[in-house]
Amino acid sequence: TQYVYRFGGGVSDGGKGDRNLLGGKGANLAEMAAIGLPVPPGFTISTEFCAVYYDEGGQFPQSLRDEVATGIAHIEGVTGKRFGNPADPLLVSVRSGARASMPGMMDTVLNLGLNDQTVEGLAATSGDARFAWDSYRRFIQMYSDVVLELDHDAFEEALEIAKEDRGYFLDTDLTADDLRGLVAEYKGLVEQLWGKPFPQDVHDQLWGAVGAVFGSWQSERAKVYRRLNDIPASWGTAVNVQAMVFGNMGDTSATGVAFTRDPAIGTKAYYGEFLINAQGEDVVAGIRTPQYLTTAARAAAGAKPLSMEEAMPVVFAELAKVFDLLETHYRDMQDIEFTVQQGKLWMLQTRSGKRTAKAALKIAVDMAEEGLITREEAVARVDPAALDQLLHPTLDPKAVRDVLTKGLPASPGAASGFAVFDSDTAETRAAAGEAVILIRTETSPEDIHGMHAAKGILTARGGMTSHAAVVARGMGRPCVSGAGGISIDAKAGVMRVGLGAEARVVNAGDIITIDGTTGEVMAGEVPTVQPELSGDFATLMVWADGVRRLRVRANAETPLDAKVAREFGAEGIGLCRTEHMFFDAERITNVRQMILAEDEAGRRAALDKLLPEQRSDFVQLFEVMAGLPVTIRLLDPPLHEFLPHEESEFADVAAAAGVAVDVLKRRAADLHEFNPMLGHRGCRLGVTYPEIYEMQARAIFEAAVLVAQKSGAAPIPEVMIPLVGTRRELELMKAVVDKAAQAVFADTGTTITYHVGTMIELPRACLMAGEIAEVGEFFSFGTNDLTQTTLGVSRDDAARFLTTYVERGIYARDPFVSLDVEGVGQLIGMAAERGRATRPDIKLGICGEHGGDPASIAFCETVGLDYVSASPYRVPIARLAAAQAAL
Ligand code: PEP
Ligand code: MG
Repeated sequence: TQYVYRFGGGVSDGGKGDRNLLGGKGANLAEMAAIGLPVPPGFTISTEFCAVYYDEGGQFPQSLRDEVATGIAHIEGVTGKRFGNPADPLLVSVRSGARASMPGMMDTVLNLGLNDQTVEGLAATSGDARFAWDSYRRFIQMYSDVVLELDHDAFEEALEIAKEDRGYFLDTDLTADDLRGLVAEYKGLVEQLWGKPFPQDVHDQLWGAVGAVFGSWQSERAKVYRRLNDIPASWGTAVNVQAMVFGNMGDTSATGVAFTRDPAIGTKAYYGEFLINAQGEDVVAGIRTPQYLTTAARAAAGAKPLSMEEAMPVVFAELAKVFDLLETHYRDMQDIEFTVQQGKLWMLQTRSGKRTAKAALKIAVDMAEEGLITREEAVARVDPAALDQLLHPTLDPKAVRDVLTKGLPASPGAASGFAVFDSDTAETRAAAGEAVILIRTETSPEDIHGMHAAKGILTARGGMTSHAAVVARGMGRPCVSGAGGISIDAKAGVMRVGLGAEARVVNAGDIITIDGTTGEVMAGEVPTVQPELSGDFATLMVWADGVRRLRVRANAETPLDAKVAREFGAEGIGLCRTEHMFFDAERITNVRQMILAEDEAGRRAALDKLLPEQRSDFVQLFEVMAGLPVTIRLLDPPLHEFLPHEESEFADVAAAAGVAVDVLKRRAADLHEFNPMLGHRGCRLGVTYPEIYEMQARAIFEAAVLVAQKSGAAPIPEVMIPLVGTRRELELMKAVVDKAAQAVFADTGTTITYHVGTMIELPRACLMAGEIAEVGEFFSFGTNDLTQTTLGVSRDDAARFLTTYVERGIYARDPFVSLDVEGVGQLIGMAAERGRATRPDIKLGICGEHGGDPASIAFCETVGLDYVSASPYRVPIARLAAAQAAL
């Protein structure tokens, strides 16, 4: 296998298509060299060698040594300098470069090739002894840090002392002799800390650096970065060895970084900074304040030091041409590093620039309108997940934050408000016009009203699919869940962050801010900025809609959520969870009476009171969704969820329901289940208490008839039966629904088109999908339960160990967030196929949380589902992801 690829001096063994092999940096250096840009010559050791390096226990085979020798010979040939030549030495940089850019995560060594002899040669050829000794000093410091892993502070300290002793303020005040002395000191430090002298053999230096860069791929910080950015460890990094060029050779030298457009807001203007007489690390280190690239930017900032455009007009003009050429060549905004050595421009890196979601949108739309890319490409360019940033209020990036702790970023957006510790208070204070943040150890369905009233929700327990997280996302409320660092005493109205004397205390009524996008919890109010949904956003969405095949619906229960969903472009409702309608403060008593009734007659009496309420819910929903399909799921959760759990609540609840306390307690005990998720829920409720489903079905059809009669825009109800595992269950429940429909149509004289179908959320349902499709007209994959039942992992308890599972690579991502395509995906594929075999026109959708996850949506496209259904705020994300899946 070939591992070394050369570039520069008219040679390019690779190009921009070789990113997987050469890493981003290596591929783009080769590409820039190939299109004739000034790139210092060098070579790349491919990412393929990274795996070999680890397999070989950190050894380098002879074949690689031979290839590297050829690479060095290439650089020597182009530069006319020899590596290790005391008279006129070649110096190189050694840098990492992975397939995906991992800014600042991995290691770099500059000025490699200097030793006690070559430093004299560099001094002679450059005519600048100070520069030579400063380069040597920097090299020893970097090498000791990165390769020898010695204590960095010891070197910094020696540098500081050297300056102090001489009464200097700046590094640049040090003279050649000072630096020569400092080098001696540094070498002493190395010997003392490392136990061996600083390597003088330039080849030893090179192999040490190459090993360190490959080694940095498995550093802790690189691992963390990969985990956060879903980068597989198997990709490996490449290593780039390149002739050094110097931006610190006097006032005609400089170094800088630039973007071809503004990465924060996307404006078409060069954006960047540079420093005269400096090396790249100085710009990054922030020791000196960099200067603006363009005069316009300098003027806008009211800054004094000359822009590059003013200070180096000729080189700037050349650079500007390179910017334009690179942007046209790569057809994307570029992030560029350059160096000017004594008036000559050198390009050190180009890559597609990272940008905010706002800039991504603007750049994609602008470039399509400029004709640089197609509309499809514009659609493909914007990361759907990043849209989340735009659809919610965000923290003002300029604001100061006093971060108390961090939890899981459970539902995006930022909000500030008074801390409240129970849902009733949240509701009352919100009704009085106050902004509140609801803080709970965990939430339950009884907190729905408080969550709705709150601007944001904070919980101490629970993962990304905990009740709080799912409900908050559905409502579009920012939520931080599972903030392990806090303890809550709801009765006393206090939250403590941290332990003991160190703990910080938030009392009820204090103002706090949460950021559901990052998981941060902050003291006090941090100002937010509102999202903007017109302009570029709207344009891109229209383009996306022109491309996608999958339809996009919303999971919504309330008219308000349904309206938001429509504004975001939902094409119907894919899941209306009717139980949410039962938790309403006024209705819950009727629900409880129904549960507490001794017999069917008692249940029917309570259900009769619930019917008009359900009907009015559906009327409102149908009005908002006029003419669009609305999938309504009949009651799903186990009945005990509607009963109180706290001793203190029993008396009030019993009184309201008109039963004795001990009756209530007995019934609650009767209903207790060891494993409610696998218990008496879903269609099992409908099978045992058909009158419940009958009432719900009646309410649906009466509402549909009312809306049809009133507006003429008849909704298309799709009645959905949850947790079906057998054909017979669905058959029984469909009979209940059909009977209710016929009764309503007969009573009202109006007939409505409707469909009856089922959730597919049990493995058995997937296996038996062929048979189930004989009865069901549609399937909606309930991937929350399907994931739970297929993996045998409880969605409510998984947070405790799933993070470890993801860290250990057992699952690539949280399977409740992003569909386990390999496992659960097989069941979905099978069910879709078997369902279609029976009923070719069966309608297939997904309504689990995965319906709003781009990777899962891509999978839905491959199995040919008809639609995905996501929470309202994720509808735009789903539209864009569906378009990308179709491209
Ligand atoms: C599901 O199980 O995927 C689903 C949508 O239903 P729920 O989350 O209400 O159980
Ligand atoms: Mg379910």
